[in-house]
Amino acid sequence: MSNPLSYLHDQLEQWRAEGTFQRLRILETASAAEARFDGKQVINLASNNYLGLTTHPKLREAALAAIRQFGVGSGAVRTISGTMRIHMQLEERIAAFKNVEACVVFQSGFAANAGTVSAILGPEDHIVSDELNHASIIDGCRLSRAKIHVFPHKDAAAAEKILSDLDSLPGRKLLITDGVFSMDGDIGALPGLTEAAERHGAMMMVDDAHASGVLGRNGRGTIDHFGLDGRVHIQVGTLSKAIGVLGGYVCGSRDLIEFLYHRARPFLFSTSHPPAVAAACLAAFDVLEKEPERIEQLWKNTRYFKAGLESAGFNTGISETPITPVIVGDAALAHQLSRELFDGGVLATGIGFPTVPKGKARVRTIVASTHTKAELDTALEVFRRVGKKLGILGAGI
Ligand SMILES: *Cc1c(COP(=O)(O)O)cnc(C)c1O
Repeated sequence: MSNPLSYLHDQLEQWRAEGTFQRLRILETASAAEARFDGKQVINLASNNYLGLTTHPKLREAALAAIRQFGVGSGAVRTISGTMRIHMQLEERIAAFKNVEACVVFQSGFAANAGTVSAILGPEDHIVSDELNHASIIDGCRLSRAKIHVFPHKDAAAAEKILSDLDSLPGRKLLITDGVFSMDGDIGALPGLTEAAERHGAMMMVDDAHASGVLGRNGRGTIDHFGLDGRVHIQVGTLSKAIGVLGGYVCGSRDLIEFLYHRARPFLFSTSHPPAVAAACLAAFDVLEKEPERIEQLWKNTRYFKAGLESAGFNTGISETPITPVIVGDAALAHQLSRELFDGGVLATGIGFPTVPKGKARVRTIVASTHTKAELDTALEVFRRVGKKLGILGAGI
C-alpha cells in the first residue's frame, strides 16, 4: 500500500534540493548575547531577547518564588478555575503601564492576535490590513471569516481609500497594522492610519510585539512613541520578546477585555500560564521602569551595528529598529550566508519565501542591550569576511 503521507517526503526532498531545508539549531545554554548552539559558542544575533531579560536575576527569582509558593501549573483554563491572583496582578500591571483601562493576557502573542480578531468580527465585517502584517493577524482575520482588504505596506492613503469604499457598506471595520514589522524592522504608519480609522469610524488595532520594551517611554510601545494614547482601540503586545518570558496581551477598554474573557477562544479553551510565567513577567515590568539604561544601551548598540553593516556595503533595507536585515535576494544564498556566519561564530537566521517575498531573502540580525562592543565588532568582521567570500560585497570594499 502506498503511504498517504508520501507527499510530505517529496516536498521535503524538493526543499533540500533548493537549499531551503531548515534544520533546527539546538540551544545548549541559556538564550543570551553569546550562547552555544549545536556545540558551538556564537554571538547570538537571532534572538528577540532585546534587553537580556531571559536571564535577569530578578525574573529568575520571581519565577522560583512563584514555583515554591504556587507550584508549576495553573490547573485549568482561565474561565474554569485557572485564573490565579497573579494572573490578575499581571493584567492590572500591564494596563497601568500601557495607560489603558484593562488588559487580558493570552498564552502567546500569536494567541492574542488570532484570538482577538476572530472574536470581535464576523462574516459581515471588514478588515483593512497591511500586506506585511504578522501571520497571527492573518490567521485571526481568516478565522473571523470577515472580508479581508490588504493595503500596500505602510500606505495610509491606500488604507483610507479602502475605508472610503467601505463607508456605504454595512458591517464593522477594523484597521490593523504591526507596530514594528518583524522582517524589515520598520515602524508602522500609525499616525496616518489612526487618522484614517477615525475619519471612517473604524476600529484601530496595533500589534506591538517587536515594539514592547523597545520603543516609547520605558518600552511602552509605538502608541506611546507616536503620542497616540487613547486613539488606538486595541493594542497587542508580547511577553515573549523583550519581556523575556512567554505570553501575549491585549490592552483596551474594560468592555473589550470583558468581551474577550467571554469569546476569545484561546482564552476559553487553552490552559493559562504557569504562575512562574506570570511572576517573571511582573518582575520584567519592574525592570523596565527601574533600569531604563537597558533600553538606552539597546539603541546605542543598534545604531553602532547598523552603521557597521551599512558602511561595509550591506543592504539593510528600511530598518528603523534593532531588527536589521541583510538583504541578499536569493533564498539559497541567504541560507548559505547564515551557515557561513555560523561557522565564523555568528548566529543570524536566513529567511526566505514565504516568510518574506520571493527575491527579498535575507539574513536577519537583532542586537540586544547585552551585546558588548567587542562582540558587535567581531560580528561585523565575520559579516565582512563572509560577505566578500560569497560575493555579496564587492571585493574592493
Ligand atoms: C513574534 C510576534 C508575534 C507572536 O508573539 P509570540 O508571543 O511569540 O506568540 C505576534 N506578532 C508579531 C508582529 C510578532 O513579531
